[in-house]
Amino acid sequence: MPLLELKSVNTFYGRSHILFDVSLSVEKGEVVSLIGRNGAGKSTTFRSIIGLTPPMSGEILFKGSPVNGLKPHQICRRGVGFVPEDRRCFPDLTVRENLEVVARRQKETASPWTIAKVYELFPRLGERENNLGANLSGGEQQMLTICRTLMTNPEVLLLDEPSEGLAPIIVKMLADMIVEIRNEGVTVLLAEQNIHFCANVSDRGYVIDKGALRYCGKMSDLVTDEEIKEKYLAV
Ligand code: ADP
Ligand code: MG
Repeated sequence: MPLLELKSVNTFYGRSHILFDVSLSVEKGEVVSLIGRNGAGKSTTFRSIIGLTPPMSGEILFKGSPVNGLKPHQICRRGVGFVPEDRRCFPDLTVRENLEVVARRQKETASPWTIAKVYELFPRLGERENNLGANLSGGEQQMLTICRTLMTNPEVLLLDEPSEGLAPIIVKMLADMIVEIRNEGVTVLLAEQNIHFCANVSDRGYVIDKGALRYCGKMSDLVTDEEIKEKYLAV
């Protein structure tokens, strides 16, 4: 049984039909990429999963149980963590306070995330623990928002374009971070435009274009598939 599964999901904004029969699955322990150009439907896929824009039809299963129809906070509580693309941390709170305010589901998971564990795995945040969110660099804010969501002890983490707009050296750091998170047993679904970033951190990927999936397979096959890349990913 996949950890997360979408079956023929159709999602609308008002009367605009955005997602067309999107079906995908993520197994426990995987890092899976959802790759597509700007406007392809990546964020809408995440909003559908988390219940912010519930699908008009289709099914979303988490650990085999349907979650469509539930409210976003109920879906989060079941173990779905969402890091939206705006990477907003609380600007007036310190790094430590940003992490403290969200700790939950502590008793429901075998090895819950703690501030100590976050600092151990991502020392940069520990060094900045007394800095205000507003005073962090873009890359540090991205790290903090990811860790803040980890503090909710998700079983699957949805990361929406974490590498967007960040310098190459920070992007490399984020890639290492995703590998660490996977090693800690958290499953990741990653939305990206940057196929090279995905190739570094995930084994399997889906390509989305105009709200429909166009490819599903190994990342190693995708990076050499010039036709798919040209058709759906080239800018
Ligand atoms: P991506 O995350 O891949 O860049 P989105 O899921 O944000 O793509 O957008 C998919 C499509 O939905 C785009 O055509 C976009 O213009 C449209 N869209 C996104 N948000 C809204 C909204 N709130 N209302 C209407 N259309 C939207
Ligand atoms: Mg998006």
